[in-house]
Amino acid sequence: MKLSLIIPCYNEEESVPIFHKEAAKVLQGMGCGYEMLFINDGSKDQTLPILRSLAAQDPHVTYLSFSRNFGKEAAMYAGFCNAKGDYVAVMDADMQDPPSLLPEMLEILESGEYDSVATRRATRTGEPPIRSWFAKKFYQLINKISNADIVDGSRDFRLMRREMADAIVSMGEYNRFSKGIFGWIGFRTYWLSYENVERVAGETKWNFWKLFKYAVDGIINFSQAPLSIASWFGIFMTFFSFLMLIFIVARKVMFGDPVDGWASTICIMIFIGGIQLFCLGIMGQYIAKTYMESKHRPHFIISESNKQDIKKVK
Ligand code: UDP
Ligand code: MG
Repeated sequence: MKLSLIIPCYNEEESVPIFHKEAAKVLQGMGCGYEMLFINDGSKDQTLPILRSLAAQDPHVTYLSFSRNFGKEAAMYAGFCNAKGDYVAVMDADMQDPPSLLPEMLEILESGEYDSVATRRATRTGEPPIRSWFAKKFYQLINKISNADIVDGSRDFRLMRREMADAIVSMGEYNRFSKGIFGWIGFRTYWLSYENVERVAGETKWNFWKLFKYAVDGIINFSQAPLSIASWFGIFMTFFSFLMLIFIVARKVMFGDPVDGWASTICIMIFIGGIQLFCLGIMGQYIAKTYMESKHRPHFIISESNKQDIKKVK
């Protein structure tokens, strides 16, 4: 039995050695075969040289180094494409996903009742209230309008069976939103809550604006509901204009044609123009995604690794 850990790393020179040491300790204690797949996502610091020397010391370490920064989603995908274990886990390099949880997670999987063990943070303490509020609304909304089951506070930290990892590899879409992909493929998932841990070193790569864009991407990738907004606006405006028509004709017949109403005309024009641009923008977002998908560009390009038998592009 073999366990694969997928660890995306972007500028994690301080965290990687700490992670490697801690994870190796836990995995050796578990007494199973394992591999650690570090994916260097185009780091600009000393992450790559550190990974090279770790790989030279420890035969359990494989590193895949991207030709540039492709993002965490691409790094995870590269990991899934190259993981060989019977069980596969995704973990952050910054120790926010504690390796000490692995034995418990494996035990749950081996009991045979579940296909994956996913983690969620129990609370959002230490986060700005406005961010928590937006996060909560986002999860409510996306669960309403998409058929992927996306759990509030869920992390990417998961341990899963081979079958589930294969299903993820088969989801070859270019615009990847892992929380949605995990939910969409189904399988029986056990949810494990734990207290949020601060990262050991370095800085988070997320700010509010990036998170907001991430949320919008998630919605567009897993729901067609925004598109129907345009139809609903259209139906509403048609109905409304019909009422207005009756009103204006009736007024003309009863009171003649007083020349006024410039202000109301302008207001209506601006209002309708705004709605049209808004709906066009939504459509544009979907077309842009379709455009990117239709190019069939690779998700990642690996320029260096310590192993030969790896998928270098996919
Ligand atoms: N990461 C990555 N590519 C990126 C950004 C982040 O591989 O472009 C990795 C990063 O090294 C870390 C994980 O993704 O292992 C999570 O990143 P971070 O800790 O910044 O996110 P947070 O935990 O704050 O959500
Ligand atoms: Mg982190």
